[in-house]
Amino acid sequence: MHIVAKHLTKSFGSFQATKDVSFEVEKGKLIGLLGPSGGGKTTILRMLAGLEEPDSGDILIHGKRVNNEPPQSRGIGFVFQNYALFRHMSVFDNIAFGLTVQKRTKAQIKERVQQLIELTGLKGLEKRLPHQLSGGQRQRVAFARAIAPEPQVLLLDEPFAAIDAKVRKELRTWLKEMIDRVGITTIFVTHDQEEAVEVADQIMIIHQGRLEQQGSPIDIYKHPRTPFVAGFIGESNPLDDISNLKGFDPDVLSRSKAIIRPEFIEVGLPGEVSYPSAAERGIVRNVFFRGIHWQVEVEVEGDRLFAYRSLELPELKPGTDVHVLIHRLYLFNEERHLILE
Ligand code: ATP
Repeated sequence: MHIVAKHLTKSFGSFQATKDVSFEVEKGKLIGLLGPSGGGKTTILRMLAGLEEPDSGDILIHGKRVNNEPPQSRGIGFVFQNYALFRHMSVFDNIAFGLTVQKRTKAQIKERVQQLIELTGLKGLEKRLPHQLSGGQRQRVAFARAIAPEPQVLLLDEPFAAIDAKVRKELRTWLKEMIDRVGITTIFVTHDQEEAVEVADQIMIIHQGRLEQQGSPIDIYKHPRTPFVAGFIGESNPLDDISNLKGFDPDVLSRSKAIIRPEFIEVGLPGEVSYPSAAERGIVRNVFFRGIHWQVEVEVEGDRLFAYRSLELPELKPGTDVHVLIHRLYLFNEERHLILE
């Protein structure tokens, strides 16, 4: 394993920012640290970088414990949102910065910077100052600067947060390609689930200082281990009172919390749904056209649920009586563990 974190705990005063966080990252993988604001993502990244000391726990990079190593000797490059480019230095000098620190020769520096300028598509901008660049170009310079000294690990903290939506989408595809090409183990922080799902090989969901789940985007989507994860990744309907749901054991239901994805629910006119006898009765409240399907908001016994409906079927009008068939659900027990899927 390239990066190993064991039982990382960190408090600020009486506030526990991370609680017993353990994970392993394989070499060359792109990992997304995902979760809501204040959950502890940046704190984890800063501990890996050596900018924050854990209260307890270990960090191993390439099999070596680095807890007592200063940031510059951990073999890590980082791009932090607030770790801006040097304002008075050209693009060339910004990228060359870490190489100068490494005391490489002038010729070596020139060669490496030119290589990175090619790689990151910044040709022709070498002499510009940061304020003469677009936000996207600046982030590419920051990336080139971070990987110039050939670190083993790259850490990115919300690298695209300050960039407008369209450019951000282009940049994240660009980043993925770059990282695949360079083959560097990378961990990036984001609170944007779409960004994480699209780019990352693996996602770690961080919530209230804890690592709730680590896995591939599809694995996490299909097999969420906690109600929080089920609600955070993908669309879902939380249901508190499920005691009289048809077709499921009432005894189990009475002690559980359920989460249902819209694609688990079939909504249709009588005769349209596959098992009418197992269906609940509902009323259509809203219908939204979503490009690949209808999204139907349906009321069942006081609960409002979102379901998807094929565009092949006729549009349902609000107020229509429908049959609602729940094919699957995720059930979590009182300890928030998945007990049925
Ligand atoms: P965001 O997405 O908003 O950056 P995050 O998941 O990265 O959030 P952190 O920045 O790690 O979260 O912060 C976790 C918690 O620790 C927050 O409640 C924050 O206020 C607190 N915290 C972080 N750094 C410090 C510090 N130096 N002193 C005191 N509290 C801190």
